[in-house]
Amino acid sequence: RDKIPHLPEIHVESSLNLLLRRAKENRTVDIEEYETTGGYSALKKALNKFSPEDIVVLVEESTLRGRGGAGFPTGRKWRFALMNPPPRYLVCNADESEPGTFKDRIIIERDPHLLLEGMIIAGYALGAKEGYIYIRGEYPAGYLILENAIKEAKDRGYLGKNILGTDFSFDIKVYRGAGAYICGEETALLESLEGKRGHPRLRPPYPAQSGLYGKPTVVNNVETLSNIPIIVTYEAYFMNIGPSGFYGPKLFPVSGKVEKPGVYEATMDITLRELIEMAGGVKGGKQVKAVFAGALGVYREDELDMPMDYSPKGFGGTGTTIVLDEDDCVIDALLVVTQFFHHESCGKCTPCRIGTYEQHQILKKLKEGKATHKDIDYLRHLSQNIPANSICGLGFSAPNAVSDVLRKFPEEVEAHLKGKCRICG
Ligand code: NAD
Ligand code: SF4
Repeated sequence: RDKIPHLPEIHVESSLNLLLRRAKENRTVDIEEYETTGGYSALKKALNKFSPEDIVVLVEESTLRGRGGAGFPTGRKWRFALMNPPPRYLVCNADESEPGTFKDRIIIERDPHLLLEGMIIAGYALGAKEGYIYIRGEYPAGYLILENAIKEAKDRGYLGKNILGTDFSFDIKVYRGAGAYICGEETALLESLEGKRGHPRLRPPYPAQSGLYGKPTVVNNVETLSNIPIIVTYEAYFMNIGPSGFYGPKLFPVSGKVEKPGVYEATMDITLRELIEMAGGVKGGKQVKAVFAGALGVYREDELDMPMDYSPKGFGGTGTTIVLDEDDCVIDALLVVTQFFHHESCGKCTPCRIGTYEQHQILKKLKEGKATHKDIDYLRHLSQNIPANSICGLGFSAPNAVSDVLRKFPEEVEAHLKGKCRICG
C-alpha cells in the first residue's frame, strides 16, 4: 500500500449512490470497509441462493447494456459464451483510453472490491475458472490497488480455491497494457494478453465464441462488471432504476469548460443539458458551443436536450462529455482528436493508417488558413472511406468528429477557409 502513488483529485458526484456509493472521497476503500458497508454480500447471496443459470437470467432480465461504449446487452453476450463449451474466460477491459474518458479509474482506484465482486459473480455465472483485468499502462496506481485488493480478497476466501466453502474456484490476474489505445479494442486486447502484438482480429468470430487462446471469452468493461453486484442485490427492483430499456446507474465523465469537471453518476434519462448543469454549468456562465463525445462525435448547443441513453436519438457511448464554450475554436479541438487517432492507428489497414494522417494534415492546413474547398471535399471523402475500409472500431470512429464538424459547424469551417476565425485570428 505504501508504494501506491498519490491519487489525482477528481470530483465525484452521485444522485444515486450505487456505483459511486463508496467512491466520493479520494482514497481507496479497503476490504474491511467494503465488507462493513455491505460489500461481498451480493457474492454470498449469489452462491447461496442462485445457480449460475439464475444469475445469467437476472442479468438478461436487467437489460444491462455494456458500459464500454457500444451498449451491447451484457446478458446476451454471456448467453453467447455459454453456448460454447468450456474452458471459458472472463476478461475485464480496463484499458480506458477514449479521449475524455476517466470513469472506470474512479471505481478501480477508490472501490476496487466492487469490480472484483462483480467479476467473481460473473465468473460463477459463466463457469469460468480464470479472470483477467487488462488495465491501461497509464494507470499505475490502479494496477497496484487491484493487486492489493486481490490479495485481500484471497486472504478472506472470496477468491481462489473453493470460494466461501463452495466448490466454485476462481482466480483473477491483472495485466498491464503498455500505452496503446488500440489494445482497448477487445480482440487487440486478447492478442496482447496472449503476449502478441496488439493488432485487432477480424470479427466474427466474436470473443464470446473464440476469444482468449481460441476459447469462449466474455470481455466486459469495468463499469459493466461493477453493476453485477447491484443487479444481484436488487434483482427485479433494478428495473426501477432509470428509464425503460436503459436500466441501472451510469457514470458520466465530464470535462472541458464546466465549473466542476468530474465523474457523475445518474440514470440515463438525464439529458446532456442537465448533465452539464450537474457539473456546475459552463465556466463563467458562458454559452456551450460544442460537446465532443469522446470518439463518438460532436454535438451543437441545440442538441443538448437529448437523453444520455443508448436509443438511436440518445447520446450513447461511454457518456464522455467534453464541453467547449463560445471562446473555443472547434477546429483546434478537432486537431487534437485527429492527432490522437493518427497516432493510435495500429497501421494494419491502409485506409485507417494513411487516412487518419491525411485528415490531420488537412485540418492543420485549415487551421493555418491555407486549405481550399477541394481539401474539404477530400476530408468528406475520407470520412466515408476510412470506416468503410477498416476492420475495427478505431477506423470506424476516427472520422466521426470530423464529419460532424463539417456538417454541424459549416460557418466555422468557412471562417477558417477565409482565414478569418474570430478565435484563432
Ligand atoms: P461492437 O458493437 O462491435 O461490439 C460490442 C460488444 O458486443 C463486443 O464485446 C462484441 O464482441 C459483442 N458483440 C457484438 N455482436 C456480437 C455477436 N453477434 N455475438 C457475440 N458478441 C457480439 O463494438 P466494439 O467495436 O467492440 O466497441 C466499440 C465501442 O468501444 C465504441 O462505442 C467506442 O465508443 C468504445 N470505446 C471505448 C473506449 C473506452 O475507453 N472506454 C475506448 C475505445 C472505444
Ligand atoms: Fe488498425 Fe485502424 Fe485497421 Fe483498426 S482500423 S485494425 S486501428 S489500422
